[in-house]
Amino acid sequence: MNSKARNDAKHALRIIPREQHTISRKNISKAALRVLYRLNEAGYDAYLVGGAVRDLLLGGHPKDFDVATNATPDDVKKLFRNCRLIGRRFRLAHVVYGSEIIEVATFRGTSEEEGGEGDRHIVDGRIVRDNVWGTIEEDALRRDFRVNAMYYGIDDFAVRDYVGGMQDLQDRVLRLIGDPTTRYREDPVRMLRAARLAAKLDFRIDSSASAPFAELGPLLSGVAPARLFDESLKMFLTGHGLKSFRMLEQCGLLKFMFPATARALKRGDNALRELIENGLENTDARISDGKSVTPAFLFALLLWGEVRDLAHTWTTQGKDANEAWSRAAMHVLAEQCQRVAIPRRFTITMEEIWSLQPRFEHIQRKKVFRLLAHPRFRAAFDFLLLRSAESPAIGELGQWWAHAQQLPHETLAAALPLQGTHIAGDIEPARGTAARKRKRRRKPAGKSGTT
Ligand code: ATP
Ligand code: MG
Repeated sequence: MNSKARNDAKHALRIIPREQHTISRKNISKAALRVLYRLNEAGYDAYLVGGAVRDLLLGGHPKDFDVATNATPDDVKKLFRNCRLIGRRFRLAHVVYGSEIIEVATFRGTSEEEGGEGDRHIVDGRIVRDNVWGTIEEDALRRDFRVNAMYYGIDDFAVRDYVGGMQDLQDRVLRLIGDPTTRYREDPVRMLRAARLAAKLDFRIDSSASAPFAELGPLLSGVAPARLFDESLKMFLTGHGLKSFRMLEQCGLLKFMFPATARALKRGDNALRELIENGLENTDARISDGKSVTPAFLFALLLWGEVRDLAHTWTTQGKDANEAWSRAAMHVLAEQCQRVAIPRRFTITMEEIWSLQPRFEHIQRKKVFRLLAHPRFRAAFDFLLLRSAESPAIGELGQWWAHAQQLPHETLAAALPLQGTHIAGDIEPARGTAARKRKRRRKPAGKSGTT
């Protein structure tokens, strides 16, 4: 155990009895309660742990409930029919109730402990397998942040705080347990978790926990891209995407996850920044309204700057436009997927959203109707609207297409030229349209702005 961990271990165990904390069984899922009680009745220790305890103490509603116990995964399997064992790196039991999964983890031992059941494997300071069982005290010490290491016991309804998590919760700060450098080397994803949890909880990251980011950030390139994909979904698609994005950038970690995005933003691509931030804000609002969101749209936003610039460079060099767009998409996705493994079903949609963008500029009868009928039209059009910040012309184009969708087929057809490529500003879908009215009204304001 390193000296910092020993210091954390020195924290006297603080037991906060039921009447002195706010966690009520009313706010714990029925499934989690069943698991806790069943384990307890079978003679095992059973605690609610981690993010659920933290969020309940903060008055929030946890989306998942994790249980820690001294029962081994095999013991758990024997107790629950609806149980499956998962994981190699971390062996865990999943107890399944309909769509809800309760993750049951056996207490793990600390790094230098030898023996015990199971095994631990460390390569270059990185934990690649961690299945050494231990005591609850040891289990607390190998968790990431102090606020994540509190245990709610089902036998006495008390909260056990082994490392000063309660104090940090009150101070709204994220502090790592143990020596930050060692903990990040063991698992670089902890750096991303710091940024994500700071954004989600509106906590600050203690300077000792943020200081190693610059030096150790590059270790993220050694993390399995599939794990980074999961982590990126938790960052951007759980209702606090905008804050996560800003925090990731502020922490200097964006470049290790989305290098192309970080490069474009560093070049001062403010239109891209606006596009991403507006997109994330919309996504957060949709999630809080209970609407569906797709990772494809979000990743398409993040990578747009580089795809657009590459496609433009190649078309000005004389490449065929379709070819330039598809090669730009392939190029950017190939680099990105080495970091964050975006599944194929999403990259296909991303390529479609991107490649439809230049097609919005072709205001010609056949092409307009073909685009309107495209299965990905809606997503591509929403994307176009978000691009308004790129130029006034794109803004106008967005308005034109918004209006075109409202028109009856015949009216639109009559307003469209049969041939040639036109820019949207030349075409008037119908006299006195909303788009035109808006344009007229805006003029005086624009003039006064220039004088
Ligand atoms: P949320 O569920 O809100 O995203 P969380 O803290 O619950 O946040 P989980 O991934 O559900 O995150 O993990 C549950 C708990 O497991 C954490 O609270 C922490 O105690 C522990 N944990 C998770 N990931 C790590 C890690 N990389 N290193 C050490 N402990 C971890
Ligand atoms: Mg959790």
